[in-house]
Amino acid sequence: MNYYSTNNKKSTVSLKEAVLKGLAPDKGLYMPESIPVLPESFFDSLPGKSFQQIAYEVAHALLQQDVPADELRKMVEHTITFDAPLVEIEKSVFSLELFHGPTLAFKDFGARFMSQLLSWFAKAEKREIVILVATSGDTGSAVANGFLGVPGVKVVVLYPSGKVSDIQEKQFTTLGQNITALEVDGTFDDCQRLVKEAFLDEELNKEFFLTSANSINIARLIPQSFYYFYAWSRLKDRSNVVFSVPSGNFGNLTAGLIAKRMGLPIRHFIASTNRNDIVPEYLDTGTFNPKPSQATVSNAMDVGNPSNFARMMDLYANDLNNIKADITGYRFSDDETKQAMRAVYETSNYTLDPHGAVGYLGLKKYLSEHTEAKGVFLETAHPAKFLDVVEDTLKTEVKIPERLKQFVKGNKKSIPCSKDFVHFRSIAISLLK
Ligand SMILES: *Cc1c(COP(=O)(O)O)cnc(C)c1O
Repeated sequence: MNYYSTNNKKSTVSLKEAVLKGLAPDKGLYMPESIPVLPESFFDSLPGKSFQQIAYEVAHALLQQDVPADELRKMVEHTITFDAPLVEIEKSVFSLELFHGPTLAFKDFGARFMSQLLSWFAKAEKREIVILVATSGDTGSAVANGFLGVPGVKVVVLYPSGKVSDIQEKQFTTLGQNITALEVDGTFDDCQRLVKEAFLDEELNKEFFLTSANSINIARLIPQSFYYFYAWSRLKDRSNVVFSVPSGNFGNLTAGLIAKRMGLPIRHFIASTNRNDIVPEYLDTGTFNPKPSQATVSNAMDVGNPSNFARMMDLYANDLNNIKADITGYRFSDDETKQAMRAVYETSNYTLDPHGAVGYLGLKKYLSEHTEAKGVFLETAHPAKFLDVVEDTLKTEVKIPERLKQFVKGNKKSIPCSKDFVHFRSIAISLLK
């Protein structure tokens, strides 16, 4: 199947090109030319199947023309090595826990699947594949851990010195093997600029097959649809199901829209945001008005120009009424978020992280107006990842999972790098050769 750019449906590329390029040359995002609709018998069979099996069948429907079945099965099995449990925290309110992977956030699903696809593409490529990733914290850890030990692929993580948390830093500076961390004497924007300049640099591109693994990559989006099918299959009553998705760049929500397009009977989506409410505002007013991002306690959702909006609009033929029929948007303040964390902890003895709390709030608000519905909110990160906010809000100690402790014990290894491109290039070349 080919993939078109959201800026021009006639400009199509293969899956390989879409994955290696990430962004289309016209700056559009890649979308599959057609989204297969699965038969009713498929949905009837889901409750009896494992997460891996469900994921494989969804992946097969989307990618069967591009990846041989036995390869695809291996990729899925290497991606889904941990569960995504559905926990009923109140009547008709379910938390879909997406934080049981190695870096304790849902981004593990996308990063791990993309690494499998890329290493398969790498076999046919003579040059070494080098992934450059600029990170302000979380993306670097998910990508580095996803690609750790993958043959034919090297990862270089660029991060701003002194501007990521200790735990975040440890998650990509202690790995070794094919992962290198460059500690840039500058800001996150400097890191991003260095990556952009690298893609334009002739010398680097002659030597290496450079690619990025940022969140707009279609290979990260596809696996995020798997857990919507799985979650739905684990509900006892599967009618009138709504999903509330705490959103920043809207990749997670878009993956849900794709699942619905494939026939999954999701009645409605709730786009839950913090103060960065560009999409809820669009749904209210019909005007899409990107703004500089504002800092909140749910900082992984502090996005002022959500990149996947282009895909959402594409799925609904740019029609506001179409999109409103399927998605309702709500925004919540930091105070509301913390209050929800406290209330849920007190009433249900369940610890929400600030992002999951925004999802919870959106779901509750929707259910209060639609009493016949039942809902799932995506719990996108483990509360221990946002330890300061969570402990401060709940006045209690959060238990840190063993795999997070292991990172903290490791020895940080990073290479200092100035924000000057020429310096960066010479380091990159000496590192990678
Ligand atoms: C990235 C992230 C989000 C936002 O997901 P999008 O797909 O960008 O909307 C939400 N919560 C956490 C914990 C994240 O890391």
